[in-house]
Amino acid sequence: MTDGLKAYKIQISGLVQGVGFRPFIYRIALKNSILGWVENNNEGVTILAEGSDSQIKHFIADIHSLAPVAATIASLKKSVEVFEGFENFSIKKSSSFSQTITEVSPDIAVCDDCLNDLLTQPHRMGYPFINCTNCGPRFTIIQALPYDRYQTTMQPFDMCPVCENEYTNILDRRFHAQPIACNHCGPVYRIENLELQFETNEIHIIIANEIQNGKIIALKGLGGYHFICDANNEQAVSELRNRKQRERKPFAVMCKNLATVENRFEISEQEKKSLLSWRRPVVLLRNKKQFAPSVSMQLNTTGILLPSMAIHYQIFDFLTTDAIVFTSGNMTDEPVCIDDSIALNELSKVADIVITYNREIHNRADDSVVMVVNEKERIIRRSKGYVPAPVLTTLYDNEGIFAAGAELTNTFALGKNTQVIFSQHIGDLKNAETMEFYEESVDRFSKLFRFENQFVACDLHPDYLSSYYARNLRLPTLEIQHHHAHIASCMAEHGLNEKVIAFAFDGTGYGDDGTIWGGEVFICDYAGYERRFHFDPVPLPGGDQVTKYPWRTALSYLYKYFGAEILESGLPFLDARDKTEIKTITQMIDANLNCPLSSGAGRLFDAVAALSDICTTSSYHAEAPMKLESCIETDCKGKYLYHIEDKTIVFYKMFYQIIKDIRRSAPASHISAKFHNTMVALIIELSKKLKKETGINKVVLTGGTFQNKYLLGLSEILLKKEGFEVFAHEKVPSNDGGIALGQMAIAAAYRQSTRISDNGNH
Ligand code: ZN
Ligand code: ZN
Ligand code: FE
Repeated sequence: MTDGLKAYKIQISGLVQGVGFRPFIYRIALKNSILGWVENNNEGVTILAEGSDSQIKHFIADIHSLAPVAATIASLKKSVEVFEGFENFSIKKSSSFSQTITEVSPDIAVCDDCLNDLLTQPHRMGYPFINCTNCGPRFTIIQALPYDRYQTTMQPFDMCPVCENEYTNILDRRFHAQPIACNHCGPVYRIENLELQFETNEIHIIIANEIQNGKIIALKGLGGYHFICDANNEQAVSELRNRKQRERKPFAVMCKNLATVENRFEISEQEKKSLLSWRRPVVLLRNKKQFAPSVSMQLNTTGILLPSMAIHYQIFDFLTTDAIVFTSGNMTDEPVCIDDSIALNELSKVADIVITYNREIHNRADDSVVMVVNEKERIIRRSKGYVPAPVLTTLYDNEGIFAAGAELTNTFALGKNTQVIFSQHIGDLKNAETMEFYEESVDRFSKLFRFENQFVACDLHPDYLSSYYARNLRLPTLEIQHHHAHIASCMAEHGLNEKVIAFAFDGTGYGDDGTIWGGEVFICDYAGYERRFHFDPVPLPGGDQVTKYPWRTALSYLYKYFGAEILESGLPFLDARDKTEIKTITQMIDANLNCPLSSGAGRLFDAVAALSDICTTSSYHAEAPMKLESCIETDCKGKYLYHIEDKTIVFYKMFYQIIKDIRRSAPASHISAKFHNTMVALIIELSKKLKKETGINKVVLTGGTFQNKYLLGLSEILLKKEGFEVFAHEKVPSNDGGIALGQMAIAAAYRQSTRISDNGNH
């Protein structure tokens, strides 16, 4: 009987490979009595489905509502086929027949079913590399598409007969789980520099004991090595700081479970969701009960994550401490280590014990970092768990566009159709090691996604290594102003394609007048921008060097506004410094010697932090602004004055008032609050002013300065109260890690407009 039976081809694109999608389709086909087949191919997943209209309807509804947790369906297209009368439903072998891509799954935290199998499956008792189609490594082990075991770093491991049975059994949870493994056939951990006899499935007991004894361990993870130690043991944590030569930058911490997190941190519903997500990012949380003081170093937030690999759970089972420091296994400023011999030679200078395993990490990936503001997750570092899933943009054709990114916290992006594929977090492109990682990743991404470079977008900065790299490709290249790219990134993320009012606040970016910009108020779209207002530029004595010495920037502001008088005014931050040191700086300013002008918002935050004696020298990027934010007294509603001269936002009055507050011994927490409130007030006032002039009601907030939770949170709330539509970053970092998306959008729009005008000329 084939009466009323029909045949359809269903084509699904999106993140549907390596996430258990085909077996899922198989199971719901059985459930809905659908006959036909499913296959993976370069375009995603194709299904041939035969059944009645109502069966097909329910089948498609199930595809949407029951899909595996890590799957994302970007599109589902249905077309009528000739009815053939299949007698069963089958999974066809992967075919590879076209040049369009499908998505590669990011790595997925170990699932609850697998954690349970650790205790019950005879061949996987305590097996730390357990995984299934719903969880486990993906991006970090993949070498080529389609995603199949032989194209991953699992290739050298031959499946044992038991695993093979599961792998080929369509109803098994490990059907086609490419990294499938067990105690008999899979990767094993080993201790590199310690003479110890142990069973491979006991390694977590050794690690737990050593942590409890105050030792530092280098442990190989999915995307790279980590250094771990007891977060409640001050001696261990400060020893890690000494050995890693990491003076004050806070450490991330892995907590045993959600109960531990709730006990120690203030945590909202969205923060809970982010922590528990299969992506397992580090989430910035507000401290309630501190770990050892050397963990967060006086900041009021800590980066927290939950266990993501089976071994993490196993270690916590044997620990009495509830949290471990969990920081990248690298030497400062170098990419996280993925090479076992380098780990043994280099990381062993920091760690007492190096624990490795015998599967290669193909793609390096740091832990991702997010924060939650106004109950929305905002990504700060987009890497493991997120990459390489594309950020979708549908505005322009991005095909063949390479966006080189900026310099700090670099990521680059490749354009495929309307998709933008972001690289993992590469790091600061300031040394050979990081540049090598950049070049290697460009090659690997290009190969993996069959990318053919036709058009290049890079930062306008003459000296960024990413810009050098881009220019050397010798392809048509568009150089894009840094803050224009920041704004375009936020616009593209939200699908905006019109003129907006935009605040791009960050530390530094090359301006078209050759000075350093970073306190920028633009009216702009992808095609261009008008610089409507900007922070008052000050000389930066020593150029880039000032980021390490916020006191110099403070001095520069005060010297500009109040002259030499300020040197005798008895300000604590100046009195604490050597007189000759101060003299050198003012002489540099007077002689205009290595004193580039900067309107960077980051520098203004630096100056206020130094002036109020919160942070006068900085040991890591943005330390002063972070400390300034950290000490805000949120009940303090006061603010300072500023004024506008033509296009310049002048802070003379604000500094005058801050000095007055310091003389009155006002607490730094009040000065900080009033300063932040001033920044918010300025955003509101200028938005209103520009709206009055232009009629534009959409406001974009972007740039690294908007990683400041207080500034972003309050600006959003108050702008909305004034009736503005507000757009800030969520899926792409507001820092320079998000620049590549803006470069891509501007380049794609530019290419399209020149194509149109080319056509017009014919
Ligand atoms: Zn699993
Ligand atoms: Zn096996
Ligand atoms: Fe920037």
